[in-house]
Amino acid sequence: MRIVFMGPPGAGKGTQAALLSSALGIPHISTGDIFRANVTQGTPLGKEAQSYMDAGEYVPDGITNAMVRDRLTHDDARPGFILDGYPRTVEQVAELDAMLRSAGTKIDCVIELTVDVDAVVARLVRRSAEQGRTDDTEDVLRRRLEVYAEQTAPLIELYQSRNLLVQVDGLGEIEAVTAAILLAVNS
Ligand code: AMP
Repeated sequence: MRIVFMGPPGAGKGTQAALLSSALGIPHISTGDIFRANVTQGTPLGKEAQSYMDAGEYVPDGITNAMVRDRLTHDDARPGFILDGYPRTVEQVAELDAMLRSAGTKIDCVIELTVDVDAVVARLVRRSAEQGRTDDTEDVLRRRLEVYAEQTAPLIELYQSRNLLVQVDGLGEIEAVTAAILLAVNS
């Protein structure tokens, strides 16, 4: 199974993608997690990405696409994967299409976690305090939500037109959201 997770910052994509990854036995590939690991390790990729992340902007497509292209060639991703936080731009969709075409595979399902914006803000402010993330201050958060609305929300219609989109309410209890996602994925 090849699954894409979408939804605004704070929708719970990371939590749900990790749970689904365990349930299905396929890797959870989070571009945000990969960028953060590179920032922590002080790699050249991390140094390039950090200023964009700290400002709430997207890391340029060229950098992000190359990173995902590399990750998807790892053996563990051969039977399937859950992409969390990628693609986020129209150009990334085209690039992912090209990667999958050359591998002779395709996306099976795009899950959009839907949430109310006020609930998201409350969730992210709490997470910021818990995890010490520098990209969740209120100004940066507002910018992250704006960038999502401008650049990523249009992808929802695009995947809907391909009949791949499944919308799941992300605001329930974690277990209930996971159950709804599993139901959607299995049907
Ligand atoms: P996330 O944890 O998915 O919210 O990602 C944290 C940050 O990493 C984002 O605000 C972006 O700066 C960067 N990032 C993650 N995924 C992407 C992507 N697909 N395209 C561009 N930037 C990304």
